Amino acid sequence: MFSRAKARWVPFFRRSGAELSCLRELLPRPSPDLSAAAVRRWKAWEGNPCPLCGGCSAVSSDLPIPCAACAANPPPFDAARSLFLHAGVVRAAILSAKYAARPFPAGPVADRLRDAFRGPWRDLFPDGAAPTVVPVPVRPMKYLRRGCNLPALVGARLASGSGWPFDPLLLRRDCERAPQAGLPAGHRRENVEGAFRVPRDRRVPARVLLLDDVYTTGATAEACSIALKRTGGGIIVVVTVARAVP
Ligand SMILES: [Zn+2]
Repeated sequence: MFSRAKARWVPFFRRSGAELSCLRELLPRPSPDLSAAAVRRWKAWEGNPCPLCGGCSAVSSDLPIPCAACAANPPPFDAARSLFLHAGVVRAAILSAKYAARPFPAGPVADRLRDAFRGPWRDLFPDGAAPTVVPVPVRPMKYLRRGCNLPALVGARLASGSGWPFDPLLLRRDCERAPQAGLPAGHRRENVEGAFRVPRDRRVPARVLLLDDVYTTGATAEACSIALKRTGGGIIVVVTVARAVP
């Protein structure tokens, strides 16, 4: 008797549970807390970064030893660092700003970047000279659709708060490429190769802080750095708000 009732009700509860979880997907996502106080609590991405690409090195050492990938094939930039892991509330804030036109806490995030340059990142520009902040440009159509370029938004606040020069027009982006987001890792480098250039009448400053929102494979940072170095760039430090870790 009991086993017959069990046989009838267990599938019912299983089915109801699955249907309820589908309904949950339809509910609006909770908005991330973007207040300055909340951003101050966002957990900084910590670890033992590779001195070149900034990825977490498997080697536990206080010495700045490059990771295996950088040792085999050094990147065209001098260093890369990311403030947060691209996960949880940070990822939600970035995605909702990029794809749902929600506001992004550019000021508080720029404050966190400034704090990092006063702390663990203070030696990235060796002589302490002010770098020029150059945001990775977005394609014009994307800019019109979104109404902003997130790296430029954060870069402007970082530069004004630090007294550093800001040059959002130093790099130009080819319009004909597919968006990087959604492309498989193997295709990202090929898609972005040669996509950036420095206008012929521009001079690249000796120290550039290249700012982007997310570091995924490093393909965009590398393509920008190649364009900057080819046009006389000196020290290039790539800084991203977040890093996607596979
Ligand atoms: Zn590395």
